[in-house]
Amino acid sequence: MIHYQEPVFRPPSEADSLILQATYGCTHNRCAFCSMYQGKRFRVRPEEELFSEIDWAGRHLPGVTRVFLADGDAFALSPRRLIRILERLYQRLPTLERVTAYASPQNFRARKLEDLRAVRAAGLRMLYLGLESGDDEVLRRIQKGATCERIVEVCRRAQEAGFDLSITVILGLAGPAGSARHAEKTAAALDRIQPRYASALTLMRTPRQPSFEEVVGDPAWRDLTPEEALAECRALVAAMQADGVEFRSNHASNYLALKGRLQRDKPTLLALIDRVLADPRSPLRRPEFLRAL
Ligand code: SF4
Repeated sequence: MIHYQEPVFRPPSEADSLILQATYGCTHNRCAFCSMYQGKRFRVRPEEELFSEIDWAGRHLPGVTRVFLADGDAFALSPRRLIRILERLYQRLPTLERVTAYASPQNFRARKLEDLRAVRAAGLRMLYLGLESGDDEVLRRIQKGATCERIVEVCRRAQEAGFDLSITVILGLAGPAGSARHAEKTAAALDRIQPRYASALTLMRTPRQPSFEEVVGDPAWRDLTPEEALAECRALVAAMQADGVEFRSNHASNYLALKGRLQRDKPTLLALIDRVLADPRSPLRRPEFLRAL
């Protein structure tokens, strides 16, 4: 059987993947916008426990093609351990085509390039990495624990090692006052990274989180309105110049689901945002009560 320590999170595009927890929680666990692992202490799972779940999946779940290694940061594991897990996965799940995981800049950066290449060669194909913002002031306020330069550097090393990247950015992180700058700097950082996928989420807060105003140290801070969030998304898409990036805003936190390839689909994406901005009752606009993390 597979035993999950809940809550379990995965990117929207891993909806059909088998999720296996190689670790619990997140080593950083301090980002002001993130409550995913607040109730969990970071822990590496005993290898034999994980292996027995992989073996069980091999016997009982025929046809698995995708595995997502949870929780928040598989690179807290040593490369050797990651390789052992990947070898077991591909051995026991003969139809497996790809394994993906989240990666935090902190732990990923500590790994040598040759080790990263070995992990990639063992079958970890894509990494989901949070840039959140290209604006260092925003990154500092949200306690990301890394500057934009450092995250770009980590992404480039990941690409050099052969990983595909799916980069997450968060609309609304700078509030209304910093919105234009956040969009502009985030677009510039994405242009430098040129990831395969770039995904936008929209900031949402949960009751489990401490007050965001307190964490960012600004009592006047407030969430964006739906219109402001859509306008920020528009500014981000409009400013991006990199070619070939698959842009998505299909996460349930967003007011509008977008999917298209930049630059090819940019005019269509912008026109769609404009249409929804012009019509508050557009059926494409996700109502507040349907937003979720
Ligand atoms: S590194 Fe990722 S999982 Fe950890 S607290 Fe930050 S956003 Fe959440």
